[in-house]
Amino acid sequence: MDRDVSTLPPGLAGDPYRAHVRAWLAAHVPEGFLADQPGFRAPDLAACRDWEAAMHRGGLAGITWPTEYGGHGLSLREHLIANQEIGRRALPESVNSLGKELAGPIILAIGTEEQKRRYLPPLLQMREIWCQGFSEPNAGSDLAGLRTRATRDGSAWRVNGRKIWTSGAPNAQRCLLLARTGAVEDRHRGLALFAMRMDAPGVTVRPLRQMDGREHFAEVFMDDVVIDAEDALGAPDQGWSAAVRVLAIERATNRMYRAWRFENELNHLVRACRADATLARLLDGGAYHRRLAETVVDIEIVKAHVEPVVDSLLAGESIGDRGSLMKLHWSEAHQRFAALALELLEQAPPGAGPEVQAARARFQRIYLSARAETIYAGTTEIQLGIIGDRILKLPRESAKGGR
Ligand SMILES: Cc1cc2nc3c(=O)[nH]c(=O)nc-3n(C[C@H](O)[C@H](O)[C@H](O)COP(=O)(O)OP(=O)(O)OC[C@H]3O[C@@H](n4cnc5c(N)ncnc54)[C@H](O)[C@@H]3O)c2cc1C
Repeated sequence: MDRDVSTLPPGLAGDPYRAHVRAWLAAHVPEGFLADQPGFRAPDLAACRDWEAAMHRGGLAGITWPTEYGGHGLSLREHLIANQEIGRRALPESVNSLGKELAGPIILAIGTEEQKRRYLPPLLQMREIWCQGFSEPNAGSDLAGLRTRATRDGSAWRVNGRKIWTSGAPNAQRCLLLARTGAVEDRHRGLALFAMRMDAPGVTVRPLRQMDGREHFAEVFMDDVVIDAEDALGAPDQGWSAAVRVLAIERATNRMYRAWRFENELNHLVRACRADATLARLLDGGAYHRRLAETVVDIEIVKAHVEPVVDSLLAGESIGDRGSLMKLHWSEAHQRFAALALELLEQAPPGAGPEVQAARARFQRIYLSARAETIYAGTTEIQLGIIGDRILKLPRESAKGGR
C-alpha cells in the first residue's frame, strides 16, 4: 500500500469512529507489542516508526488536522475516542509525540501555509521525528532565562547555544527550537521559534544515559548553525507566546490517553497479583485493598479532567492554567501508583510465575519513568505555583515567570 494514503473510511464520527478504532486495533497491533500480554518484546525504533505510520494510515493519528496537511479532518471528540482505545491497550509510547502533540499544533497555529504543507505530512508519516529544544542548563523552570542566541545573517539566522534534556534528539530529524533574538534581560521578549534541521552543520547531539539504561534524551549543542528564513516559525518576537501555548498543550492535551493507560496498568497489576497465591492474599482487605481503591479514585479524577478540556477546546475556549491541574494530579498519582505496584510485586515468592515476572518487569520500567513525570512539562512546584497564583490568585512575594 502507498504509505501516504489514509485508509480511514469517509463519514466516520462519534460511535462509528470508536467501532472503527477498535476493529482497526484488533486487526493491526503487531505481535508481541502489548506490554501486559505474555510474549511482550519491547519494540525497537524501526518497529515503532512502522507502527505509528500504520496508525496514521488507519486514521488514528493527525485526527483533527486538516486533510490538506495529511490529517483526517475530524474533531477533538474523535481524538479523545482514539486516545481512550489506545490507552486501554498497553501499546508503546509514541516515538514522535513531541512532533504530533507539540510541534504540529504550534505549526498549525502560527506556521505559514507553505510550512504546514512542508512539515506536517512527513511528521504524520513518521518520515520526520521532532524533538523539543526548550530547556537549557540554567533555563528549565525559569524558561525565560534561556541564552541560546539566534542572530540575523542576511535573510537567514545563525544560532549558537546549548540545550539539555532534549527527549528523542538522537533519533530526531527536526527540533522545535526556542532561541533568543533579543537581550537576556528582555526575558519574555525577543524569543523566537525555529524548525531546526538536526543534520544541519554545527548541530552536535550528545546522548545522556538515564537510570533505566536508555539514552533517550540528549544535550544538543549549536555552533554557528545556519537556519534558513523559511524554517523560522512565526515572528521573531512571537516565540514566548507560542512557547506558552506549546506548554499549555503539553500539560493538558498531550497524551490524552494517560487516564486509560493508567487504568490498564492497574488492571494488569491486579491480574498479576491474582495469579500468585501470596500476592492474591495481600489484596484481600487491609492496606493494599485501600490503596488500590484510592488508585481507582485517582484514575477517575484524571478522566474527569479530560472531558471538560475537550469541551472547552471544542467551544473555542483556551485551556489556560487548568492544564496545570491535570498535569499535577496525573503525575503525582501515577508516581504513587508505580511505587505501590513495585512494593506489591516485590513480595512475590522466589520462582513466581511468568505473569508476575512480566508484570514486575513492566512496573520496574514504569516506576523509573514515572520519576520524571513530576519534572517534565513543568515540575510539581511550578504547577502548584501556577494554581496558587493564577487560579486561586493568592498574593505572592516576588513575581517570577515559571515554565
Ligand atoms: C524525562 C525528561 C524529559 C524532558 N524532555 C525535555 C524535552 O524534550 N525538551 C525540553 O526542552 N526539556 C525537556 N525536559 C526538561 C524539563 O522541562 C525540565 O527538567 C523542567 O522544566 C525543570 O527544569 P530543570 O530541570 O532545569 O530544574 P530547575 O528549574 O532547576 O528546578 C530545580 C528544582 O527547583 C524547583 N523550582 C524551580 N523554580 C521554582 C519556583 N519558582 N518555585 C518553586 N520551586 C521551584 C523545581 O520544582 C525543582 O524541584 C525533560 C525533563 C525530563 C526529566
